[in-house]
Amino acid sequence: MGQARILVVEDEVIVARAIASQLSQLGYVVTGTASSGKVAIAKALETQPELVLMDIILKGEMDGIATASHIREQLDVPVIFLTAYGDNNTLERAKITQPFGYIVKPFTTKDLKIAIEIGLLKHQLERELRQNRDQLATLLNSISDAVIATNEQGKVTFMNPAAETLTGWQQKDALGNEAANIFHIVDEATDTILENPVTKVLREQQVVYLEEFTSLIRRDGKRVPIGDSASPLKEGPDKINGVVVVFWDLSDRRQTKVLEKALEKEQELNRLKSLFISTVSHEFRNPLTVIQTAVELIEMKGGNLTDEKRGIYLKRIQGAVQSMEKLMEEVLFVGRAEAKKLVYNPAPLNLEQFCLELIKDFSIVESSECEVVFTCHSDRTDAVMDEGLLNYMFGNLLSNAIKYSPRGGKIQFNLICDPIEKVAIFYIQDQGMGIPEADQARLFESFYRGSNVQSIKGTGLGLVIVKRCVDAHRGQISVTSQIGVGTTFTVILPLNSDSSSES
Ligand code: ATP
Ligand code: MG
Repeated sequence: MGQARILVVEDEVIVARAIASQLSQLGYVVTGTASSGKVAIAKALETQPELVLMDIILKGEMDGIATASHIREQLDVPVIFLTAYGDNNTLERAKITQPFGYIVKPFTTKDLKIAIEIGLLKHQLERELRQNRDQLATLLNSISDAVIATNEQGKVTFMNPAAETLTGWQQKDALGNEAANIFHIVDEATDTILENPVTKVLREQQVVYLEEFTSLIRRDGKRVPIGDSASPLKEGPDKINGVVVVFWDLSDRRQTKVLEKALEKEQELNRLKSLFISTVSHEFRNPLTVIQTAVELIEMKGGNLTDEKRGIYLKRIQGAVQSMEKLMEEVLFVGRAEAKKLVYNPAPLNLEQFCLELIKDFSIVESSECEVVFTCHSDRTDAVMDEGLLNYMFGNLLSNAIKYSPRGGKIQFNLICDPIEKVAIFYIQDQGMGIPEADQARLFESFYRGSNVQSIKGTGLGLVIVKRCVDAHRGQISVTSQIGVGTTFTVILPLNSDSSSES
């Protein structure tokens, strides 16, 4: 610092020379001396000193204080006043120019050096402080996160432009207002207003973060999904003198998430559609091949065909047509359900009656040797349900029980009506092959078939239909099964579901 360049402003020429010589002795460079305010300003601009020693009392229009303030307006240079006496009024005026020190005349070389060094250091520190502050201000003004600061009473002391945009408040309107009046935060899941983070930090004296799915209510009432943190501004270890809240707008991220989810769903739907189409066409190919082969054989053999053979071929054709019809019906049913076009027509019916008729029809149609045993110990079995859908539901469950049981197997079909819970509980229990545990969770997916049934005919749509029918009744279905022991499907349906006609 010994090389600092100094301008001396002193109207007593002899004193000015003496000071200049003292400065040279101390190793400073004197950029010039001036004896009036006007000359001082000109020399300051011309020689760009690093410090000005300014006599307060100057002859001419401008005294030292006025001159210093002119210089400080144009140059960032520290001024140290030289004064023989300091009346209060003068010192007060001098303060306005933010002096970097005073030296009272007469002074020693040592006094001069100390005053200059302290003035230079103070000026350097002030410049660094200003630079830091400017950098911080630029940072806060340019970052996209919203920053709001408050004092220890929770009153707003600062808002950056991002905070103005996010909250809809201008800093000038918000300053001095309680933070709790500037922004509200709401929990999107429960739709309740949450405690203002500023209030929370002032109470808990520590950093707080927002829960997920939180929105800020803007000044215009609109909601913006946000993330945020709020931290105490600490003066000492135990003293909080404010809070700083940082918000970030999550709208875009939330929007992206929603789009990603929609896209995933769309892709999954497309995948399922393709699988559906390829499986369905594959399933149709089998019976078509059977029909084609049988027709070719009949054509080829023509008149040479015995009645017995003809009967066998025609039966094959009939069987193939029936399985195509069944498949067609299943596909149409699932398609209707997928398109939410499943018609639900509840009407009064007696469940016990319904079950008995169903198993009667069943034993005629299903030419299996399984025995279906129906039991019902409830007195009242009246209900309001969709009989058509019940037919699909229990038709499929019973036909599975029979299909996956050995010949001669026994199938229990139980009905319990619980008037207190207002539900009907159905059990369809077989002693068949059972379902591997690994398959049980996926049984209600389209075309899903157990790993142990590959040699048995089936499409894997029956339980999908069952589930749709149960859903239409707002009921529940569950399964318990053990390999080699048997399977029980339990269906619980409200005795009178008031649901609408669409499922
Ligand atoms: P379909 O569409 O002709 O009914 P499927 O019977 O294979 O074909 P689902 O009724 O949907 O299809 O049944 C899906 C799978 O669940 C079956 O393939 C079988 O693995 C298993 N499953 C269903 N019911 C039983 C049962 N009672 N015992 C053993 N496995 C069963
Ligand atoms: Mg089935």
